[in-house]
Amino acid sequence: MERFNEPAAMREVLGEWRRARQRIAFVPTMGNLHEGHISLVEKARGLADRVVASVFVNPTQFGPSEDYSAYPRTLERDAEFLSQAGCDVLFTPGIEAMYPYGETEAWVDVPGLSGILCGAFRPGHFRGVATVVARLFNHVAPDIAVFGEKDFQQLLLIRRMSRDLGFPIEIVGAPTARDADGLALSSRNQYLTPEQRTRAGTMYRVLCVVAETAAAGGDPTAAIQAGLDALGAAGFRPDYLEVRSAGSLQPPAPDERELVVLAAAWLGRARLIDNLRFTKS
Ligand code: AMP
Repeated sequence: MERFNEPAAMREVLGEWRRARQRIAFVPTMGNLHEGHISLVEKARGLADRVVASVFVNPTQFGPSEDYSAYPRTLERDAEFLSQAGCDVLFTPGIEAMYPYGETEAWVDVPGLSGILCGAFRPGHFRGVATVVARLFNHVAPDIAVFGEKDFQQLLLIRRMSRDLGFPIEIVGAPTARDADGLALSSRNQYLTPEQRTRAGTMYRVLCVVAETAAAGGDPTAAIQAGLDALGAAGFRPDYLEVRSAGSLQPPAPDERELVVLAAAWLGRARLIDNLRFTKS
């Protein structure tokens, strides 16, 4: 695996692959890699001839009171994981490579998707995500980019951004990797104390109950209230628990069948998010 901090040096290698008609798949990350990230790399390997992963903790997607400086950085371990997983190139740009002119003035925004759900609780977050992913797409220029369904709103936002700005990149979603109790793997899980960790699986169980109720055609309102109560009883402070259309993330019309239940909740100092897609019968 080759490692690059500079976009120009990386582009030379990627250019050679492109001239040899090799397809390139890209997996952007913020590092501190776990099995969820590695499953994205494995998916990417199955879809392309070459895999590029990036590790960049993007300051513009963190709010002023969020965990940008505390975000876990484990680059040497990440590089080892990626190399073992068969990644060909690791791109680790410094802040100057991604924001060469300091404070950025050009932003990419997807207003319809960035103001709802997590966007309502994290103002500016999705604008930061869309902007950095557009820049990474320009540096890497992949054929395919793989994103986790764990961050479902992010996946839809990137799809829309890529389509509307005309990036010739296929955006592929990959399933959520979970621990044995259902907790979605996340770099932020390590903010949990061992005692909080024993209660964290409640979020997945709540999503399953709401999805089962709504999939059977029942009104999810009571199941959502019971879910919020269960989260509260387990010590969570929920931001939201909602059933939405899986295509638009808007409240679903009565005849809509492709749905998703999404949750975000604080447990101690960790803000956990998760979702489950389902089809209404
Ligand atoms: P992050 O490093 O948290 O920005 O995540 C980088 C990519 O990994 C994103 O596309 C995430 O959706 C994806 N990802 C994070 N956690 C998981 C997980 N548990 N399962 C699958 N993909 C994940």
